[in-house]
Amino acid sequence: MTLDQVRQLDPQVVVVGVGSTEPHGNHLPYGTDSIVVESFCGRAVTAANAAGGRVLMYPTLRLSNNVNFKAFPFAGRIRVRTLMNVLLDIIEALEEDGIRKIVLANGHGGNEVLPGVLREHAERHGPRQGAFVGLVHIHGLVPPEVRKMIEKPSDHAGEAETCSIMYLRPDLVRPDQLADCPTQRPEQEWLAGGKMHYVRRWHCYAPTSAVGDSRLSTAQKGKAFIDSGVQVFSRMLADLSQAPWHPDFPFPKRD
Ligand SMILES: [Zn+2]
Repeated sequence: MTLDQVRQLDPQVVVVGVGSTEPHGNHLPYGTDSIVVESFCGRAVTAANAAGGRVLMYPTLRLSNNVNFKAFPFAGRIRVRTLMNVLLDIIEALEEDGIRKIVLANGHGGNEVLPGVLREHAERHGPRQGAFVGLVHIHGLVPPEVRKMIEKPSDHAGEAETCSIMYLRPDLVRPDQLADCPTQRPEQEWLAGGKMHYVRRWHCYAPTSAVGDSRLSTAQKGKAFIDSGVQVFSRMLADLSQAPWHPDFPFPKRD
C-alpha cells in the first residue's frame, strides 16, 4: 500500500502475523509457518475489507521463539524477552497511530510467550486505558468439521502443514520426501499426557524435526483447511472493525 491508500483506509484494526523460521523435515521449507500465517492473514484482511471492514495488515514477523530447536541448524530465534519487547514496541507504535484494536495472529506452536505479551501490555496501562489486544492461533480458527479431513493430525510439519503449503506454495514442497516421522516418548509415560507442561527438546521428541505421517497430504485438503479458517478470521476482523470503540471494550461501557 502507499501512503495515500493507508490514509484513505483509516484502519480501525491492525493484524500482526507472527511466523517462524525453523526446520520442517525434508519435505517442507524452513519458512512454512511464516508463509502460512502471511497468506492466511493477507487473505482474511482482504476479505474483511471487501465486507466493509477497515483492517490493516502489518508486516509478518518471520523470527520468533525456537529455544527448543537448538540441535537443528539455523532454527531462527530471538530471545523470549526480545520477542515480547518487539511485540510490545509494535503495540505501542500502533497505539501512537491511534489504533485501539490489535490482533496478533500466531502461526507457530512454540510461541507460548504470546499470552505474556498481552498480560504485560495490560500491566503497562491504567484500568481504562490501552488498546484492545487479541491473540489467535490461526490453526485454531479452522472449523472442527474441516479439521477432521486431516487424517493423521500432527503438531509440526505433518499432514495439515503439508496440505497448506501444497495449496499455497506447491513449488516449495518435495513430494518424494513425504514420510511417516515417528516421535519419541518420554521415559515417564505420564509426561506424554499433557498433565505437566515443559519445553520439549525437539531433536529428542522429533529426531527428523517433522512429526507424523504427511503422505496423505493434498492441495485440495489444504485449500479447504486454509479457506475455511480465513473465512472465520475475516468475519472476526470485519466485526471487530465495525464495533464502536470505548474504554471498556469489548464489555458494555461503564459510566
Ligand atoms: Zn510449522
